[in-house]
Amino acid sequence: MDVYPYQCPDWAKCLSPTPTHRLKLANERTPIHRWELSGIPAGFELSIKRDDMTGCLLSGNKVRKLDFLLAEALKQKCRHVITCGDVHSNHCRATVVAARRLGLTPHLILRDDVHKTSVRGCSGNEFFTRLCGPNIYRVPLGSPYSSVSKPMMEKVAKEIKKESGDDSYIIPVAGGSSFPGVFGLISTFEEMISQGLLDNYDDLVFPCSSGCTAAGMGISNYLTGSNIRCHAINVTEIPKSNFLQHINQTIVDMGLPDRVKADNIVDIIEGHQGKGYNISTQEELDFLSSVAVTTGIMLDPTYSGKAALGMVRELNNNQHRFKGNRILFLHTGGVFGMYNVQLDTKTTAETRDEVKLCKYLIPYN
Ligand SMILES: *Cc1c(COP(=O)(O)O)cnc(C)c1O
Repeated sequence: MDVYPYQCPDWAKCLSPTPTHRLKLANERTPIHRWELSGIPAGFELSIKRDDMTGCLLSGNKVRKLDFLLAEALKQKCRHVITCGDVHSNHCRATVVAARRLGLTPHLILRDDVHKTSVRGCSGNEFFTRLCGPNIYRVPLGSPYSSVSKPMMEKVAKEIKKESGDDSYIIPVAGGSSFPGVFGLISTFEEMISQGLLDNYDDLVFPCSSGCTAAGMGISNYLTGSNIRCHAINVTEIPKSNFLQHINQTIVDMGLPDRVKADNIVDIIEGHQGKGYNISTQEELDFLSSVAVTTGIMLDPTYSGKAALGMVRELNNNQHRFKGNRILFLHTGGVFGMYNVQLDTKTTAETRDEVKLCKYLIPYN
């Protein structure tokens, strides 16, 4: 795998530090096309940026971050990569696949049901993660990052060093919001500019869970003249104030003056997390299947589905939030999350009429 020198766009050169190298794991220049999503009020035009097409097993926004994170790992001559997440994490799956491509040994601190002794029949992200054979250290579901996963990653790195003398590269939760992962989002923004973002759109909408995408999009938009408005739809129960604080910290960490405030560069929209992170309501599942049926776009239940539904609701109920009527939705990937839901085949057999098609997804159990 080749490492390439990173050409930072002129407008981002004031950030510090800036990466010197990057990888090209992500397929770049993913398409932007019109999206005839139903429920969008008259007068609005919606398009979609297909970052679900940055790859197959390496797709979505996580591979954008890995292009910079793993370049740093190689530069530091690390032979191991350590990261953490939930058992169904897109980030863990993408990291393990990318590490194997690069010949690095992956280690995961995985939040899982620690009482479960068998993993037979695992699917989705967990399936692909395990297929790549990482070293897995399980911690209980819901374990906090700062007091459990983070110290454990450091401990694993120390043990590896002691046993083999090898260095490890630690990737923070979800790829982290600051150097160098955030440059993955800065380069996504740069790519969208080359595709007409600043001339053809007024508003950019995307999901928000760790805040990395929100930080990257907000900072890029600020640096290029705040031509559009960025809307980050919170898909978790984490309060907005935490994201603002986190993005403000990123702003300072990246060398921008602290008069630049998160609140002014990104609109964090609350109220669309439904029953909470990674839990689906029937309304959300019906939305996913109707979007598939009517537009051929597969969203995911954890991120893009909640965000797209939130966007439809906001366009109907809070139009004043939007700068204009040309809206671009950033599809951040996550298709393997679809294995957390299943088709209700019983319903399918009983009701074959079109109207009922939207009821077919149900939670997996
Ligand atoms: C991680 C993830 C997000 C959230 O992005 P953040 O940068 O963590 O806020 C959105 N969509 C998908 C598919 C993801 O995997």
